[in-house]
Amino acid sequence: MELEILELTDTKAKFIVSEISPPAINALRRTLIADVPKMAIDNVEFHLGPIRNEHGKEYESITPLFDEIIAHRLGMVPIPTDLDLFVFRDDCVCKGEGCPNCTIMYSLNKKGPSEDDKKENLTVYSDELQLVVQKVEGVSEKKYAEKFQINKKIPLVRLNKSQALLLYATAELGRGNDHAKWQVAQAVGYQYYPIINIDKKKCDSGGSCVESCPKNVLEQKKKEIIVANLENCNMCGTCEEVCSLGAVKVDGDDSKFIFQFETDGALSAKEAITRALVILEDEFEELRDLAGKLK
Ligand SMILES: [Zn+2]
Repeated sequence: MELEILELTDTKAKFIVSEISPPAINALRRTLIADVPKMAIDNVEFHLGPIRNEHGKEYESITPLFDEIIAHRLGMVPIPTDLDLFVFRDDCVCKGEGCPNCTIMYSLNKKGPSEDDKKENLTVYSDELQLVVQKVEGVSEKKYAEKFQINKKIPLVRLNKSQALLLYATAELGRGNDHAKWQVAQAVGYQYYPIINIDKKKCDSGGSCVESCPKNVLEQKKKEIIVANLENCNMCGTCEEVCSLGAVKVDGDDSKFIFQFETDGALSAKEAITRALVILEDEFEELRDLAGKLK
């Protein structure tokens, strides 16, 4: 198997994998979507009743959205994840009660504009969630605060005059299998590596295929049609259709694939793919052990 990186950023990866079968590349896709764990908010406690500010002014703990909708939105906020630091809540020494080894906690205390304020409303963003710094072995409090404070500014809810929101949210590890909020990778897909054959004996260099291609894959150079941007080809077959001479043939290589995906930022693209490969390996290892017992 060979791997060639085409693009790798913190949250996006695009690469070519060769000498691999379609079922194997699909297994990798499914593992990335469903099995790689990440942190997400799973429990939100809302304060009910009046909320006072430092001057004793009273606000109502109400927002234009139902609490359930806000909780759902919080669930979808990408929580920075360190898979070496946290364990699943059910497997933790706390036996699922929740402790610094299996949960990250945040609080949010936000008040809308007061009655005499010129502003009509105020938007609450995800980066206003305050991290509750907990003691975890192997990480200083400063590092913990740097690592797990949410930096992404995602709008959560808009507070009107005299409205306020006070809540406590707990994040824990989960898998995409259980809920989409725990899905590490988005837009995970692959395509067969394109093969374009231009039969020079049949081709009259008319150029209809060059003009018809929506991805600018083909080019006309000195009365000859050449494949200029092969990896842009999505095998739509338009060039085949417009060529009345039947000189162009488009095919896909079923042992070579262009694979791409994005992450929501909870894990980096590199870490997501590395974890997916480890999970796949472990699962096949388990299968091998079971097969061995059958003999
Ligand atoms: Zn625990």
